[in-house]
Amino acid sequence: MGPQPRALLRLVLPALFMGLVGYGRGLLDYYSDDQLELLGYTPYLLAAVGVVLAYQFNRSRFMLLALFTAGSFWVIRDQLQVSLTDKAALEVYLATCLAWPLAMLLLLLLPERGIVNRWGFVSAVALGVLALAAPRIVQLVSTLLPAGSDWLAIWPREGLVMPKFMVALFGATALVGVLLLLWRDDETEVAILSTLWAGGAVLGGLHLANISLSMISAAGLVQLSSILRSSYAMAYRDELTGLLGRRALNERLKGLGPRFSLAMLDVDHFKKFNDTHGHDVGDEVLKMVASRISRVGGGGTAFRYGGEEFCVVFPRKNIEQCVDALESIREAVADYRMTLRDKGQRPVKSKEGERKRGTMATRIKRGTVAVTISLGLAERSEELLTPEEVIKAADKQLYRAKQAGRNKLCY
Ligand code: GH3
Ligand code: MG
Ligand code: MG
Repeated sequence: MGPQPRALLRLVLPALFMGLVGYGRGLLDYYSDDQLELLGYTPYLLAAVGVVLAYQFNRSRFMLLALFTAGSFWVIRDQLQVSLTDKAALEVYLATCLAWPLAMLLLLLLPERGIVNRWGFVSAVALGVLALAAPRIVQLVSTLLPAGSDWLAIWPREGLVMPKFMVALFGATALVGVLLLLWRDDETEVAILSTLWAGGAVLGGLHLANISLSMISAAGLVQLSSILRSSYAMAYRDELTGLLGRRALNERLKGLGPRFSLAMLDVDHFKKFNDTHGHDVGDEVLKMVASRISRVGGGGTAFRYGGEEFCVVFPRKNIEQCVDALESIREAVADYRMTLRDKGQRPVKSKEGERKRGTMATRIKRGTVAVTISLGLAERSEELLTPEEVIKAADKQLYRAKQAGRNKLCY
């Protein structure tokens, strides 16, 4: 799959939220020192919840992210509340500035394979080593930079504490994160990018009052929301196609009002398609079909009903209001030609049926394949009161579409 620009929308709410927190940070000035000390536990509390949730959902990257965030907060609170003219403090500061983006980069690049296994262990060790080795890496960088270079100097300009070298590292990591988000469309990247952003704000604006408490708490909240969103996706989204699955459909059906329409869609001759081109090519085609169906207009929402069957729900719409949207996806699927990547692996047996022309799934020309879908549409009415009855009626129409030669919409 190529880049999915829509994935960037995942960043909108976290970015707004973190911007708001950074902006509203001044409110903390009104709290007494005692109250602030108590609030100072917030990042640890959020990280603890994050660790528990990450453990429940077996996500090593989320767990390490929460641990790293809490650990860094501790370092900032415990070691960096003094002037950076202090040599030891400056060393810790530079190490933190380096470790933060590198840790995020590591978490971005590590594979997600769960917690209690070799990969989980290796990931944790890698992150620990990075954190401990950060001061050494800073030294190494300073020897590698040309003599007299100011790339590691703090206060490179008014209002910014972080050295230019680390600013560049944060920027490069952000770029990697955004690219991975575009390709993976996953919440883990959102949590990591938000934490990266919080780190940049805290370390770049270390002189600002309450910056670490506010921004790191905000990052903790974004992490929690991301864990919950990704576990929601695990439960409600179909893994192969990324569409909402049967469970989500059942919930949606419960919430429908007195007026709605519903379409059932089924890939034509798909068994034969699998037999001809293999199950893997079949899966690719299902993904393609699903992506066309997911872009259905007319206010419809697409679900994978099961196998090669899909369902589109149109709330507050009657049959006439859905026909155009459904006809467009039928045509979009029929017009699509999928190029076969590895021709050698296809179990192509030139059978009699393959040469039949018409609407059946068939090989169009060498190296490309195409499929069609049939659709049945029904609306809620006095005769069809429950969603189950409407589904049955749509299924009947689908059967009619198949009888009528396939690649058709019946209603
Ligand atoms: P019709 O035009 O009447 O719908 O014919 P059909 O062959 O599509 O009908 P049928 O329901 O008998 O076959 C469905 C096939 O879809 C069976 C199975 O091999 C295939 N299928 C179901 N789920 C998947 C899947 O996730 N991946 C792949 N590759 N194939 C699937
Ligand atoms: Mg079927
Ligand atoms: Mg079928």
